[in-house]
Amino acid sequence: MKHRKPTTVLLKLLLLGLLWNLYGCKSTQLSQNGALYKAASTAPPTTRTIPVHTPSYHYMPIDPSAYRGAETRYHDLLHTKLEVSLDWEKKRLNGTATLQMKPYFFSQEKVVLDAKGFDIHEVRLLENDDEIKEILIYEYDQIKLTVLLDKTYTAEENFTLQIIYTAKPYETNLNTSSASITDDKGLYFIMPDETAPYAPFQAWTQGETTGSSCWFPTLDTPNERCTQELYLTVEKKYTTLANGLLVNSKNNGDGTRTDYWKMSKPHAPYLFAFAVGDYAIVKDKFKNLEVSYYVEPDQATYAKEIFGRTPEMIDFFQKKLGISYPWEKYAQVVVRDFVSGAMENTTATIFMEDVYLNEREKIDENWDYIIAHELFHQWFGDLVTCRSWANLTLNEAFATYSEYLWLLEKYGKLTAEHHFFEMLEDYLDEAVEKTEPVIRYQYTNPNDLFDAHSYNKGGRILMMLHNYLGDEAFWAGLKNYLQKNAFKDVEIHHLRQAFEEVVGEDLHWFFDQWFLAPGHPQLSVVHQYNAKTGKLKIVVRQVQQKPNVPRAFVLPLKVAIWENNQRKVFPMVINKNAQEFNFELNQAPQAVIVDAEQILLGTIDHLKNIDELKYQFEHETMYVAQLEAIAKASDLKNAAHRRLLLQALQADFWAIREQAISLFDGYGYKLKEDLETIRTQLQEMALKDPHPKVRTAAIDVLASLPFNSSHHEIFEKAVQDSSYTVAGAALAACVRTKHPNLSNLMAQCAQETHETIVVIVAEHFLLQNDPTHYDWFTDKIFRTRNFTQYDLLLDFGEYLTNSTQENKLKGVKFLETFARKGKTQWAKLAAFKSLNLLSNVEGVKNMIKDILQSEFDQKMLELYKTIE
Ligand SMILES: [Zn+2]
Repeated sequence: MKHRKPTTVLLKLLLLGLLWNLYGCKSTQLSQNGALYKAASTAPPTTRTIPVHTPSYHYMPIDPSAYRGAETRYHDLLHTKLEVSLDWEKKRLNGTATLQMKPYFFSQEKVVLDAKGFDIHEVRLLENDDEIKEILIYEYDQIKLTVLLDKTYTAEENFTLQIIYTAKPYETNLNTSSASITDDKGLYFIMPDETAPYAPFQAWTQGETTGSSCWFPTLDTPNERCTQELYLTVEKKYTTLANGLLVNSKNNGDGTRTDYWKMSKPHAPYLFAFAVGDYAIVKDKFKNLEVSYYVEPDQATYAKEIFGRTPEMIDFFQKKLGISYPWEKYAQVVVRDFVSGAMENTTATIFMEDVYLNEREKIDENWDYIIAHELFHQWFGDLVTCRSWANLTLNEAFATYSEYLWLLEKYGKLTAEHHFFEMLEDYLDEAVEKTEPVIRYQYTNPNDLFDAHSYNKGGRILMMLHNYLGDEAFWAGLKNYLQKNAFKDVEIHHLRQAFEEVVGEDLHWFFDQWFLAPGHPQLSVVHQYNAKTGKLKIVVRQVQQKPNVPRAFVLPLKVAIWENNQRKVFPMVINKNAQEFNFELNQAPQAVIVDAEQILLGTIDHLKNIDELKYQFEHETMYVAQLEAIAKASDLKNAAHRRLLLQALQADFWAIREQAISLFDGYGYKLKEDLETIRTQLQEMALKDPHPKVRTAAIDVLASLPFNSSHHEIFEKAVQDSSYTVAGAALAACVRTKHPNLSNLMAQCAQETHETIVVIVAEHFLLQNDPTHYDWFTDKIFRTRNFTQYDLLLDFGEYLTNSTQENKLKGVKFLETFARKGKTQWAKLAAFKSLNLLSNVEGVKNMIKDILQSEFDQKMLELYKTIE
């Protein structure tokens, strides 16, 4: 799974401490309905003895410090056949699940299945494929379905259960007394309603972590896997996508059609998925493998723009791994209101709608990294699966590292390094508050594991391992790991052993410090050259201090020393708290770069003078070394620093130019030196730099300089930029600098729905107090989603506070609908906040009370509490 990138709104909320699920966006809390529900028939006879190895399923509150390893496997699920149809009106799924199982090792007389919030109609024991042998007795408490078998089965005896059920993901009947059940709906219906009049009809699923058991009964753990068939009955007008191959489609003669999808290779239940909707299927292929993109019809022309490099990625990854793409097809589908960024369901990855592009968006966006991430999961996650959620990084570290590998292959070293440096920064940000091992057996909710430790840190650890072992050994190790563990579940030790087998070296030291211990090294470095002795002394200290973090990591790094315009690289194995390294030189070094390959997961604080920084900037080709040089030359009072930054504005790589620009933010208010030179450069870059992010940065910073009448012309031109991001920045700059033509510019942009523009127009309109803008706000709220919609709902509330009484009364009703039925928690929260702003409008106080009383989602209530 790939989480969404945080937006500015998200960051704002983070600061407010309001963020609860950055990574999973999974948060539906289900309401209380305590009593253990029993079937109409009698309870199991008490004369039967309970087998020793049967688990006791009672719901104790989970102690966050408790160990949570792999689920015990009482049974082995061999095959799942699902026959399902959708009830759009009630948002339910009617299903028949036929499960072939056998006891895992110890004999069993009952089966406990995960099945959340169902109506169970009947549980049957089948024989000879499809004949009913017996109707079975069961107990059902809305979370676990306990079925008493007709006899005790040994591990050599298979049996087939058939469960007739209705899944009701939107009816909140789960018992939340179990702390483990805070999961999402598993099955989602998208359709037009009062808060989304333009929505299409779609239905889709999200299994990870335990959502699958919200739409079919199963053993919902990652250490289970089975083959699968899905008979999916839908209205004829819809297209379906599911795991495996579409074997056939049968017209039912009643306006419906049944599509039969089959997965002939086993995979874990959390990877089962389908999507239904009005889709165009854009076909592509890799050799004989079907590769296809399911998009809404008006996106068909862009599908190859977005996904078209998939065949090339498959080719690249399978060549590197030496293991062919393991499944019978690869499809990618885009759905509305997805709960995450994307999900790697076996052969059928689901993406959020943000990946859709139009002519202008494609200038700013490239989704390759997320496409590569999900594709790599088809090997790491789907073919080989983490045994327990504690080992989630065995899925996510690889998927994250694949982003780097693909960007390196396709777009070059600097792009890949930039992407992975941002990953490191995100991890370091998270590590300020959270110091946990990547492999964590203690957690409250598995969703908490979808964080920058499992993803970013995990990915960067693999990068270090790759560097340490070398290319050949790394890929040979991965091939060994995949071959040994194909169609199996794994723990971190399987990975270590796979590498150890290949290279013949005990790798505990590496795996223990990086995967099993918390924290990261923080290096403090000084160097000194003695001209008399010709010695360069480099002193390295490890200064990390947090509890349980290793005091001395073992770091087989390299150091680059520039001498006489030559770069010499030496090994530098750091393994103590404090170490001194000495090098014989003929003359003073021009630059010293510890971690010459820029692979360290950690921080290096290394004092360097401006001459060394300048030399480093001009000669080092790696992104991080260039970035370090300009970041440390940020003393703008110092002319040499300023000159280096001005020089960096001409850098070849766009992200360096962008970073250098940002260092001039607000320049000119205290210091005047070089102001006009800086201004001229920024003006040119604002209009002419080839990269939209650089143009954006130039406009932002230009607007922060002391005003000059030439700015307005530039901003007005940039509002017409082909890039939305640039145009948005230019419009914001017009607002900030009170552009005389502002009203006209706003009117020109008022039709846009792109987030960077619509939010600025909204902020402008809310200050205008023009009652005729009411329809503009409501229309834009309908046409946007997620965080843009969140911003607009807040702006709308503010707009209403100064609007006419008529608008206020209408607007309050509008907001009430979103507060009660908003598609996301963001929408509900923003509408609720806005209603609070309008609490002096008649009836609103009672409305707020009623919304609070009828809200069952605990997390929503916690959020509401923060609004006063
Ligand atoms: Zn992932």
